[in-house]
Amino acid sequence: MKKITPTIATERSYTVAKEKDLPISSYFGEDTFSDRLMRKKLPAAVYKRLKESVDKGIKLDAKTADAVAQAMKEWALEHGATHFAHWFQPMTGATAEKHDAFIEISGPGEVIERFTGEQLVQGEPDASSFPSGGLRATFEARGYTAWDMSSPAFLRKNGIGITLCIPSAFISYHGEALDKKTPLLRSIRAVNDSALRVLRLLGNGASKKIVSNLGPEQEYFCIDMDYFYKRQDLVLTGRTILGAPPAKGQELEDQYFGSIKERMQSFMHDVEEELYKLGIPAKTRHNEVAPSQFEIAPIYEEANIAVDHNLLVMDKLQQVARQHNMAVLLHEKPFAGINGSGKHVNWSLSTDDGINLFKPGKTPHDNIQFLVFLLATLKAVHRHADLLRASIGSASNDHRLGANEAPPAIISVFLGEQLTRILESIEKGAANGVTDKAIIDLGISSLPVVSRDNSDRNRTSPFAFTGNKFEFRAVGSSQSISFPATVLNTIMAEALDEIADMIEKRGAINIKEAVIDVLKEEIPKVKPILFMGDNYSDEWQKEAERRRLPNLKTTPEALKALMTDKAHVLFEKYKVLSQVELKSRYTIKIEKYCKDIEIEAKALYNIISSQVVPAAVRYQKDLSESVAGTEKVLGAGLDLGPQRELLKCVAELICGIRSSAGTLKSKLEKAGGLHEYQKAEFMCAEVRPAMDGIRKLADELELHTADDLWPMPKFWEMLFVN
Ligand code: ADP
Ligand code: MG
Repeated sequence: MKKITPTIATERSYTVAKEKDLPISSYFGEDTFSDRLMRKKLPAAVYKRLKESVDKGIKLDAKTADAVAQAMKEWALEHGATHFAHWFQPMTGATAEKHDAFIEISGPGEVIERFTGEQLVQGEPDASSFPSGGLRATFEARGYTAWDMSSPAFLRKNGIGITLCIPSAFISYHGEALDKKTPLLRSIRAVNDSALRVLRLLGNGASKKIVSNLGPEQEYFCIDMDYFYKRQDLVLTGRTILGAPPAKGQELEDQYFGSIKERMQSFMHDVEEELYKLGIPAKTRHNEVAPSQFEIAPIYEEANIAVDHNLLVMDKLQQVARQHNMAVLLHEKPFAGINGSGKHVNWSLSTDDGINLFKPGKTPHDNIQFLVFLLATLKAVHRHADLLRASIGSASNDHRLGANEAPPAIISVFLGEQLTRILESIEKGAANGVTDKAIIDLGISSLPVVSRDNSDRNRTSPFAFTGNKFEFRAVGSSQSISFPATVLNTIMAEALDEIADMIEKRGAINIKEAVIDVLKEEIPKVKPILFMGDNYSDEWQKEAERRRLPNLKTTPEALKALMTDKAHVLFEKYKVLSQVELKSRYTIKIEKYCKDIEIEAKALYNIISSQVVPAAVRYQKDLSESVAGTEKVLGAGLDLGPQRELLKCVAELICGIRSSAGTLKSKLEKAGGLHEYQKAEFMCAEVRPAMDGIRKLADELELHTADDLWPMPKFWEMLFVN
């Protein structure tokens, strides 16, 4: 393998410092058709009608739509856009867009730029090639895209092309959601309704809307592009499916929060500049635990916008990396043996008048409210731990979950000592006569703002309370956060409604009394979901079993949760997903799981057959010629036993690999005849272990074969040369 001189040594633009950077605030959002811009560009009446439509979620009338389209077009043309596209989120988890030029024929051989309200509001991409998970077969659903007015249109600059992108939902003509955005929007509405109901019961008549917020912390690896292109596995599957561990991994812990190397810093700088132009509030950047691993985190935003923005972050990371001759790996486990990447999704609910419903307050009243929302979360996660697990299930995330760095597949909640103690004292406290005095005695009159240090110490929990928000840490780095957020909002809506029912049933003469009574009754039921210890330990696995918490280790097992009556009832009740829509998500996730593993298995087979074995055979030939030649010259003068041993070892490994590759191939053939769930189970139970077996032999062979013959970059190069 020819060694690469990393491009860092060559002259590149990043080494040329810019004269001076403009303050971020001076260009933040300049590539978006923002609210401020709309207010400026649109006639006051049009702007008002548009805002009303957004707030009430009603369709835009034709005249208003035309006026908005006109202003948007002018702005886009001024900024060099030639095309527009409805930008949507099919169930693949990626984003999709079909570009149309702004032109229309105006006379023989002549065009003018035109963009109508109709084109803005609705598009008709050919839906037939997107996965529909059976929806199309059932309904012959052609799809259309509809502008999501709550997310601003933006300019997508790619190479020298500039496109006006219109964030959109993707729906079938019969109204089924063909995408990830529609259910999310429905779940946002559901949790709004239920949370408002609870707030009204607690005497809040002022707040008009409940907002669900998300702050996703995105982890990723970044390596030199030259290495990336020399690894078929990385190019085709996003992870290395073979490769021996390097002598140095992450044991020195010298990477985490370390100073960022010059090349990387320049890359991050360019990414952030692009994100700021798109109005994405990228806030934090740092080195992560593994070598060549990093994190970028934004300031949290409304869930719908946060999802769109996270998709754009993932996109921009990859795009800008290419300009720096680097490759960003979003896969959950690109390198076996060192930490993988996740996405900590910070989640909270707040009101339109600025109350964070997960924030412990300073008065008994505030804390009654806080405790209700806390209890609702515990109820929701306890009842639907399996759904949360399913929402983050994928072939790639299975490599990471429970791999001693990421939360295990058991979903539990970490609250910190202080809150746990408070819940316990409420459980034990007097049920009747809840006065302010009693509340003070229970220790909930004024919860000091739970310090982050206190609540954040446990990094092993998949679902942790961190002061004024919950952090769902089991989400994978490569996945859209849309479905996990949809599940969170929906299960929360259900739990809040149940709590509201219980409070109402108690004939709320004294609301505090009713709430404390409900808390007393419910806390013992939800307690099994609370865990403060080490989630990585074996004891927890056993303890979780005693508590009857689901421990769904693999994706096929986990996905079954989507097909239970419990899930159907939940999603139907809140009109987030109909039974058919839910089934289609299940089918797509199962298919994706099978395809991911199938592609990896085929890539492994090809790499073994055309790269690893040929290289090893060459080395075997060198060795055998050398042993024979040396014997001839030295005769019995030297015992060549150890060298013969090496030759034997190499030869045996080659034989072992060949025969295991044959087994893998026949397993893949067998898998071809299986369907849906059966196939997924087979992939999990048969194909994956067969791949692991081959990898073990190949990694052993890598350590014995001459470095100059090994046909692909090794871990130490990819991880440390940058
Ligand atoms: P931590 O150190 O606990 O991970 P940070 O302050 O670094 O917390 O925040 C991590 C992410 O959580 C950021 O994206 C941040 O904007 C987001 N976040 C902070 N407060 C909230 C909130 N109330 N709701 C949702 N996300 C939040
Ligand atoms: Mg965090």
